[in-house]
Amino acid sequence: MAETAAPEAAPEGPVAAGFGNAAVSRALAAGAAPQQLMALRPGMGNAALGRILATQRVLARQDHEPPTLEELAEADAWAAEGIKRGTDLTPGNAGAGLANAGGGFDAEYDPSAGELKIIMRCGAEFTDGIAADGTPAAGLEQEAEAIRNLPTEIERQQRLALFRWSPDPADPEKVAFKTTLESQIEGFWGGRHEFFLRKRGWSWLGATVSIDIQVDDKANLPNAHLTMKPLKVPQDVNVGAFVQHNDLANAQDNEMVLSSNLGATNQFLRHSITFGIDSSDIVGTQADNLRNVVNTFKGAETSPGVADPRSLQTPVELTGHASSTGSDEHNQRLSEQRVAAAADFMEREGFVNVITRVSGEGAGEAGATGGEVESDRRVDIVIGSGGAQNTVIHEFGHAFGLGDEYANTPLVSSGLGRDTGTPQMGDTATHDPLVKKMVDAGGQPLAGAVCEPTDSIMSVGDVVRPQHYSTFHAALTDITDQEPWALGPPTGRTDPLPDAAAGGVQGPGDFPVPQPGEPVAV
Ligand SMILES: [Zn+2]
Repeated sequence: MAETAAPEAAPEGPVAAGFGNAAVSRALAAGAAPQQLMALRPGMGNAALGRILATQRVLARQDHEPPTLEELAEADAWAAEGIKRGTDLTPGNAGAGLANAGGGFDAEYDPSAGELKIIMRCGAEFTDGIAADGTPAAGLEQEAEAIRNLPTEIERQQRLALFRWSPDPADPEKVAFKTTLESQIEGFWGGRHEFFLRKRGWSWLGATVSIDIQVDDKANLPNAHLTMKPLKVPQDVNVGAFVQHNDLANAQDNEMVLSSNLGATNQFLRHSITFGIDSSDIVGTQADNLRNVVNTFKGAETSPGVADPRSLQTPVELTGHASSTGSDEHNQRLSEQRVAAAADFMEREGFVNVITRVSGEGAGEAGATGGEVESDRRVDIVIGSGGAQNTVIHEFGHAFGLGDEYANTPLVSSGLGRDTGTPQMGDTATHDPLVKKMVDAGGQPLAGAVCEPTDSIMSVGDVVRPQHYSTFHAALTDITDQEPWALGPPTGRTDPLPDAAAGGVQGPGDFPVPQPGEPVAV
């Protein structure tokens, strides 16, 4: 949710004697904001008042002072030292029972370019989905069985070929895998948020984030951070992916098993419930379906109905529909009633903050297939961005040292306990301590990260939030030996630091969370 801007701070301490205007003194002592007094000023006839108030504000808010020449010179000297480097960084944390990686990458900060570069070397060990002797890799048993049941030997061989890499290192499919993976991960994970050094005189030093993924055959990369085993499968097969590690402090022992199908996605964020003819009642299996949506996406709570302060409270959009029979006016009204019924149901079932999180609109019979078709009588439910999650992109979050943020709920990893490595609703994400070390542009710390199904990339969606840059932020702090690196663009060279009211988190993909339907991470 968007933070509301804090009001301008009232001056601190008693007002100095000699003000010469009792009304102003009383107002200030009572905590009036300076801009409120400015509004009174024309009737006061005191030309000095503006200057006095300006002084008060500066004394109360040291951050508002422009930098001194000494401070600027200090920052210049530091920047002139050039690029700061760190190798084999592992900023991630272990998590109870969770198979999360500690990360593993090099990082470079270039003050003159204002850029943090995250460099990960990935050594590929190309692995056949179904081996030459017919043995399938884990998860491909049914595919192998289906091939054995094909009617002719020619068909069997044609299908099997799609599960096997060429032995030639220069094979176009291998080359395409490497280049596609590089551009996919660099494009998705880079440039989502930026930082600036929130020290007076230094805040013109910024850090955009770029990602440099270097994929080559493992034999050519003896110091790879990540060993990846791409299983060769056809485009119509999705075997998912996972990351594992041995030693959290070893930056070069991460392993990723993934499929050669880099476009495979999972969709968790779009749901629908249907209604009877001319009805807005939510009953039977449709009530069960909506209850499952509520219990999956209501968000982590500290007690029933009370949101965990780290919960993202992902907004939900409801859109009503009606079949094409009946008048336009009737169908519009019916669609609105269906949306209202769904919102009421969600509130009764414990969806936290329905009023602020659920927006609805009645779309009438728009898009109806014609006649009385059940699927036309529905409410569409879109959670947050509504975007599908690319499995490999999510796994790279683990390779960067982030933990999972989803949770065992009716529609996500249903029934899987913590003993299976599945987080439970309200568990602390492994990167939570790093997120808490991050601050927004105004210097306020972020709340942290909790496990709950949302549209976040480390949960079940596709949105990269500031918390997902927490291991990059930790690396930046480490290699520069400077802090705090705050979220947001750098200031002008002689600007004062941004205050809390002007702060908040800034940059593409930031809070406030994107509205449903808005383009986000691709
Ligand atoms: Zn994961």
